[in-house]
Amino acid sequence: MSNGTVLVSGAGIAGPALAYWLSRRGFTPTVVERAPALRAGGNAVDFRGPTHLRVLGEMGVLDAIRQHQTHMRDLAMVDEAGRRLVTLPAAFASGDVEIERGDLSRILHEAAKDAAEFVFGDSIASLTDTPDGVDVTFERGRPRRFDLVVGADGLHSRVRALAFGDESRFLRFHGHYVATFAAPNHLGLDHQGLIFSEPGRAASVASARRPEEATALLMFASRPLDHDPRDVAQHKAILAERFAGMGWEVPRLLEAMRQSPSLYFDAVGRIDMDRTSRGRVVLLGDAGYGGTLGGQGTGLAVVCAYVLAGELAVAKGDHRAAFQRYEARIRRYARRCQQGAKRVGSFFAPPTRVQLALRNAMYRALTSRPLSRWFEKMVTSAASDLVLPVYPA
Ligand SMILES: Cc1cc2nc3c(=O)[nH]c(=O)nc-3n(C[C@H](O)[C@H](O)[C@H](O)COP(=O)(O)OP(=O)(O)OC[C@H]3O[C@@H](n4cnc5c(N)ncnc54)[C@H](O)[C@@H]3O)c2cc1C
Repeated sequence: MSNGTVLVSGAGIAGPALAYWLSRRGFTPTVVERAPALRAGGNAVDFRGPTHLRVLGEMGVLDAIRQHQTHMRDLAMVDEAGRRLVTLPAAFASGDVEIERGDLSRILHEAAKDAAEFVFGDSIASLTDTPDGVDVTFERGRPRRFDLVVGADGLHSRVRALAFGDESRFLRFHGHYVATFAAPNHLGLDHQGLIFSEPGRAASVASARRPEEATALLMFASRPLDHDPRDVAQHKAILAERFAGMGWEVPRLLEAMRQSPSLYFDAVGRIDMDRTSRGRVVLLGDAGYGGTLGGQGTGLAVVCAYVLAGELAVAKGDHRAAFQRYEARIRRYARRCQQGAKRVGSFFAPPTRVQLALRNAMYRALTSRPLSRWFEKMVTSAASDLVLPVYPA
């Protein structure tokens, strides 16, 4: 017998992870994804520390993730001539296991697809919360009723907008924008990454799984931009203007950016909400506590999916109690992980030459022998700062 029907909006990372756990806990999940298929884009994402690894292990996906891991070695800060200034160890940038976001999304979908209904190319249009269920209309499909609705539809969540209000109330901008895209591996990087920074802007390039291909990242400091999140041509024009005249590899990266069919461009920021549930609707992953880059969004999404499904099962139909316990368990953990997003802008692109020099000196010290073990511990401590509850099978 089913514990109830749950509609999950978004088949990125949090959505398939939750669908997997809901089906294991006796629920009947349906996942609706706006894109016509799983979205392949994005940089490498990482998992670090025992909390992340335990959840992936219990899902039975850790081996598949290890088979596809990037095996990145180090990440170096370089000057304009390409000379290494500081070398950061793999644990800093790539955690315990790093994987391309597209590979991870596919592995999680594989794990969930036989136990959940997946609907691609559609989106929730409206939600009406009633005492007995949520009436949902879709942009394309027929209206349906579900016991619960989960918004796992990313930083710009439709479910959050419908159930809680406009995103401007919750999205805190951290003063930088980030873009990622694929580029040719002109520098012949072999499981390595490089960062070149100038005050207020930075370019990074890394190559791991496919020797001919690299992933590029551009980051720049800015006031909030009045841009259309879906207008890729506009994003490309903004990037071309902001990175004009920058040296090192940047002219070649801008050329790759112009050609790129899958540019990821977003503000660096975090979602800040007092509550992530209302009535029969709850938020998971970036939709509820996203932190863009540096906010450990991927590990957080997978861990919180485990907790949400577990609490729903334990509550035996009392969704209010389940949502309260879910929020109480993850609030502090999510906040701590999100803090990283605040610092990521000044890590890549410190605002002045003096701060750039200070950054380099600080990381040189942190990666030196006496401090390196402490440094490695420090970069995994937020990700491990949750005692995982054990839920009955
Ligand atoms: C294409 C892409 C590239 C990314 N690249 C990076 C990166 O390079 N570095 C980084 O740190 N983070 C990146 N992220 C964010 C990262 O994946 C998340 O921080 C993290 O994995 C949490 O996952 P999530 O499932 O909550 O959100 P996401 O991974 O963002 O997934 C949300 C999903 O919801 C879908 N969706 C959105 N709106 C609707 C709607 N109205 N109806 C139905 N579905 C909807 C999206 O298409 C997406 O599949 C990227 C996200 C995407 C979608």
